[in-house]
Amino acid sequence: MSELWFEPNADERALLGALSSYLSERVVPTAAERDAEGTFPHEIVRELAGLGVFGLQVPEAYGGLGLPTRTAARILEEIAWADGSLGLTVASHNSLATGHLLLDASEAQKERYLPKMASGEWLGAWGLTEPGAGSDAAALKTRAEEADGGWVLNGAKQFITQGSVAGVYVINARTDPAPEGKPHRGISSFVFPADTPGLTIGRKEDKLGLRSSDTAQLIFEDLRLPADALVGERGRGFYTVLRVLDGGRVGIAALSVGIGRAALEFAARYAGERKQFGRPIGHFEGVGFQLAEMSTELEAARLLYLKAAELKDAGRDYTLAAAQAKLFASEAATRAADAAIQILGGYGYIKDYPVERYWRDVRLMRIGEGTSEILKLVIAKRVLEAFSA
Ligand SMILES: Cc1cc2nc3c(=O)[nH]c(=O)nc-3n(C[C@H](O)[C@H](O)[C@H](O)COP(=O)(O)OP(=O)(O)OC[C@H]3O[C@@H](n4cnc5c(N)ncnc54)[C@H](O)[C@@H]3O)c2cc1C
Repeated sequence: MSELWFEPNADERALLGALSSYLSERVVPTAAERDAEGTFPHEIVRELAGLGVFGLQVPEAYGGLGLPTRTAARILEEIAWADGSLGLTVASHNSLATGHLLLDASEAQKERYLPKMASGEWLGAWGLTEPGAGSDAAALKTRAEEADGGWVLNGAKQFITQGSVAGVYVINARTDPAPEGKPHRGISSFVFPADTPGLTIGRKEDKLGLRSSDTAQLIFEDLRLPADALVGERGRGFYTVLRVLDGGRVGIAALSVGIGRAALEFAARYAGERKQFGRPIGHFEGVGFQLAEMSTELEAARLLYLKAAELKDAGRDYTLAAAQAKLFASEAATRAADAAIQILGGYGYIKDYPVERYWRDVRLMRIGEGTSEILKLVIAKRVLEAFSA
């Protein structure tokens, strides 16, 4: 794919080059094995941390790379190209837990948590979803009540990435009743380290794809927190949650393009070599056209996420752009992975080839951080507002 719309500066080019070499040598060859075993890659995370990717947008003062969103997203795309599971690990750490602290944490909280998160020593997990509150996240039931000058947390979170391997948790809970018709009010956010008593790691999920990323349930039983564990303003956490999700959606769009690209590249190489009826199958229009569509849609998806990233970096409203980028990229990449299986025929369906893994991995992108349906609601609302009198 072309880099016309993304021109890295010298430092970014050096970082992308080093990352690319590391991923090709160390991550790509072992991705299938990790998928089969469902093991979290602690060693790779430690090695990758040396390149700074766990502090993509953390200011240099706290040990991060301080990159603009477009570069951070481009890096996420590259990691997901090599291994979707690793892509999700790095993306969720950067966009969700770290992203929330960057938006709303106090100076003391930033000093305490960000350096360890940027260095990769502490992975971040971010808890919004609950068994009874997914798309309708404001319906969450986890409660934080004031006690002895601090807070006591009770409840449970579902499907939390890095749930069982994180060093730090950013958790959203209800602190105050919601006023009638305003369910988003009264939710607050808290940050605490993994060794806080009262935190139990529940079920680790056995997933369709992204099998070497960690997804677990969290249970809070009388988990006591000091007053300064509150992140941002009491009762207004949900407004930050929405901003965190905007940023996360740019990341998910980038992951989608990365996985889709891996599928396109494999299918294109295969179509150039596999012969049927005396010709490479890519020379049949029916196959070539599929490659053409995959390539065009993925290129468009990349432009959409770069546009959202540029708006974010310019300090402009990018909610619509992020929703459009995530919706289009996740759907385009799912189509690309499906087409890659079709192009490989029976070989696409067996585990000797990576395309069935790309298809399983990419499927989450239409679900996490706002399903395609929820994104369409966000987009439709903006479109209606734009054209209403
Ligand atoms: C691997 C994985 C990792 C995840 N990581 C995290 C994480 O780190 N932190 C976190 O907080 N959460 C995480 N999640 C949760 C994820 O964000 C939710 O699964 C997602 O938001 C959907 O919620 P749900 O699963 O409860 O589905 P539901 O909300 O129950 O939705 C089910 C279906 O109904 C549709 N639907 C719901 N409401 C509407 C509506 N109003 N209009 C039209 N259709 C609707 C949905 O689009 C979907 O198709 C993760 C999930 C997975 C699977």
